[in-house]
Amino acid sequence: MYEFAVTPAVTQLRRPGVIITEVAPESLAEELELQPNDRIVKVNGRPVRDYLDFRFQTAGETELVFQVKKTNGETHEIEFDRDESEDFGLMFEQIVPRQCANECLFCFCKGNPDDARPSLFVRDEDIRLSFLYGNYTTLSSITEDEMKRIIEQRLSPQYVSVHATDLKTRAYLLGVDESRADISQKLERLLAADIEIHAQIVLCPEINDGAILEKTLRDLAAHYPKIVSAAIVPVALTRYNTDERLTRVTPEFCQRTIVQVEALQNEFRATLGVTFAFLGDEIYLKAGAEIPTRAHYGNYPQIEDGVGMIRSFLEQFESVFESVSTKDRRDEAVELARRFFKNTRTHPEARVPNRPEGKATPLDFPGGRLFGTILTGEMFAPILDEQIERFNRLSGSRLKVVAVANTYFGGDVSVAGLLSGQDLVAAADRVVGDFVIIPRVTIKSDEPIFIDGMAYDDLKSRFAVPVFDLDTEGLIKLLQQ
Ligand code: SF4
Repeated sequence: MYEFAVTPAVTQLRRPGVIITEVAPESLAEELELQPNDRIVKVNGRPVRDYLDFRFQTAGETELVFQVKKTNGETHEIEFDRDESEDFGLMFEQIVPRQCANECLFCFCKGNPDDARPSLFVRDEDIRLSFLYGNYTTLSSITEDEMKRIIEQRLSPQYVSVHATDLKTRAYLLGVDESRADISQKLERLLAADIEIHAQIVLCPEINDGAILEKTLRDLAAHYPKIVSAAIVPVALTRYNTDERLTRVTPEFCQRTIVQVEALQNEFRATLGVTFAFLGDEIYLKAGAEIPTRAHYGNYPQIEDGVGMIRSFLEQFESVFESVSTKDRRDEAVELARRFFKNTRTHPEARVPNRPEGKATPLDFPGGRLFGTILTGEMFAPILDEQIERFNRLSGSRLKVVAVANTYFGGDVSVAGLLSGQDLVAAADRVVGDFVIIPRVTIKSDEPIFIDGMAYDDLKSRFAVPVFDLDTEGLIKLLQQ
């Protein structure tokens, strides 16, 4: 059976198998009379713990036996054949994350207000989510079963929070003893099995910066290309992080860090042929420095961690300017924008109670121009504002970017993704035009609520104009039409 780390942090004990949540009509699964809430316990005699196991156990198999636990407690054996590429038509429950056993100095859980959504207090650390979604783990409490699983099921790449290769420093940052903090042998074993690793360093001034940072980057780069890249992201402290051992990141600190890491990046480019070590976008913004060029980021190996997002966004914006460069194209653009919004899905369960009666979409702007407000975090606002101003000049639109302060978390938190419902509502009196766009990332992915628990419908009722949530891609698409 799957072995969980024996630590006080472990709270989930689960029954074996993976639960079916949906069966597609006229699918193979329907033919097999599988139903939602059935639990697939074994495939060809091998235990299934989650949908990753299901995927692994069924891959390439054409002759299959499912052991299924029905909701009435009966166990059925279902034997069948399928074509190699035939889809089952099944959806499964989400993976319940394994929890970490660390006490990191800078843990985001310690920076939450008491009334934050319960899910924000979950300290997940799960190699499956690392593989699937690029979530970072520390590997400090990884079990032998998990190590074997990564290797056997090729759960590569893995995203590992290294923080420092100096053991004392790593143990101090993770709040665990040195034997637990020491992952050198685990890393070697993964690398020997050709598992790719992306590393992360949460940079804490006066703890893992300076010479320790340089040693960490050199140690990691020595394993390139198996260690593919390293991201250096600054510690972000909310007003609730009051631990005196932590020092806030300042513009001067960021400027010094850029100088230090640029020298190493140049060296890595000369010796490895790639930048290898990437500074988080916040470091450049806080330092008032230029965002590096497209070539610097290569194939954006740390984009999942938000590193290189701004350069990627600026690149995408160039295509907007190419699309909306002549007056002749504007009327066409308006019509396409309407169509885009008709087809665009807002949050699945969200309604638009304040959508004006009789209007096909909230973007039926008078005069054929986009006239509305885009809310975003303070960090990204100046970058977005510059691009939107350029867009307005080219297209005749009147879009306004409003930088929303994060008073919910306070401190250094200025990213759009951590804006709360109440922060967004506080900006309502700065909204102009026919609609307001908020960052989709502020809404919980599986429920229409914000980080402070405010319901999306509640937020919409506080604005005088329709509210739409868009991700960067959606915004770019809208402007591109
Ligand atoms: S930062 Fe991550 S690894 Fe550290 S205590 Fe918090 S959840 Fe655990």
